[in-house]
Amino acid sequence: MVSGISLSKIHDRLKGLDMGRDGSITLFRDDGIVLVRQPYLERQINQDLSDTPNVQRFIRESSGTFDGTAALDGVRRLYTFKRIDGLPLFLTVSKGVDEFLAPWRQKALIQSGLTLLLCAAVMGLTYLFQRELRRRTSAEAKLVQLASTDDLTGLANRRTFREFFERERRQAIRTGSWLSLLYVDADFFKAYNDHYGHGKGDDLLCAIASTLKEHVERPRDLAARYGGEEFTVLLPDTDPSGARMIAEEIREAIMLMGIEHKRNSHGLATVSIGIASARPSLSTPADTLLEAADNALYQAKAAGRNCVRLHHTTLAVVHPVEAKAE
Ligand code: GH3
Ligand code: MG
Ligand code: MG
Repeated sequence: MVSGISLSKIHDRLKGLDMGRDGSITLFRDDGIVLVRQPYLERQINQDLSDTPNVQRFIRESSGTFDGTAALDGVRRLYTFKRIDGLPLFLTVSKGVDEFLAPWRQKALIQSGLTLLLCAAVMGLTYLFQRELRRRTSAEAKLVQLASTDDLTGLANRRTFREFFERERRQAIRTGSWLSLLYVDADFFKAYNDHYGHGKGDDLLCAIASTLKEHVERPRDLAARYGGEEFTVLLPDTDPSGARMIAEEIREAIMLMGIEHKRNSHGLATVSIGIASARPSLSTPADTLLEAADNALYQAKAAGRNCVRLHHTTLAVVHPVEAKAE
C-alpha cells in the first residue's frame, strides 16, 4: 500500500509561519534534495544540497541542534533537525543567530551601558568623597595644630601647656613622683625691643625657643611659650636637683648664643629661671606649683637676672626635704 502526501499541502500548512528574516523550515528528502521550504524560494525547490556540510550533518545524525553557517547565503543560523520516523524525509528548522539574539543584545547593551555608568558614578563619588575626607582631615589636623602651638616660635602654647601640666600633675599624684616646672623669662626684654626693634625682639624669642627645644629631650617633657617673653618647661619625674641642672644648662646656652643686648647689664641676651619642684598631692591646688615657680623667678630677677632660683617657700606640695631655701 502506498500513501501519498501532497507537497503543496505541506507547503500550505507551513505558509502561515513567520520564521523571521533569516529563519526557515525546510523539508528534505534523505538524499539532500529540498522538497518544501518556508519561506518559499522557487530556485531552492528540488535543489540538491547533499554536498553542503549542514545537510551532510542532517543526513549523518538523525536529529540534533547546532549552530552553523549556511553554505548558500553565509548567514549564521541555529538549526534543529529531525528525521521523520518511517519516511525518507527530514525536517529542519532554522533561525538566524543575529536576528535571534538581536533583542537580547540590545538589552544587554543597554544594561551594560547603565552598569558602566553606575560604576563610573560610584567611582567618581568615591573619589570626591575621599578627596573631601582628606581635605577635612588635613584641615582639622591643621586646626588642632594651630590651636595648640604658638605662631611665632612653634612651641606649645599656654593652653597646651596647661593641659599637659594637669595631666602630669595627676600622674605624679597617682605615682607619688616628682614634678618640676621652670619659668623662663627674657631679661630686659622691653629694653631689647626698644633698642633693636620689635622684629629683632621676635627673633630673640625664636632663638630662646630653639634653645629650649634642644634642652627638653625626654618624651614627656614639654617646653611652651606661656605668653610674651615668658616660657615654661614641664619636667615630669624630675627632682629638684635634676630640674636645677636643666635650668642651668638652658640659662648658660642662651647666654652663649652671644646675642648682643646693650641694655642688659651682661651685654648679652640672657634669661632668668624660676624652678618649682614638688610631689603633688590631691589636697594641693593645681596652681600652687605655677605660683611657686613664678615666685622663684621673681627672686632670680631680684638677684640680678641671668640666674636660676629654686622656690624656697614652704609649700604643702613641696617635699619637705627638697623645700630648702636657696
Ligand atoms: P625683666 O628683665 O624684668 O623681665 O624685664 P622685661 O623688660 O623683660 O619685662 P617686661 O615684662 O617689663 O617686658 C616684657 C616685654 O616683652 C614687653 C613686651 O613689649 C614684650 N613682648 C611681649 N610679647 C612680645 C612679642 O611677641 N614680641 C616682641 N618683640 N616683644 C614682646
Ligand atoms: Mg622679661
Ligand atoms: Mg615677663
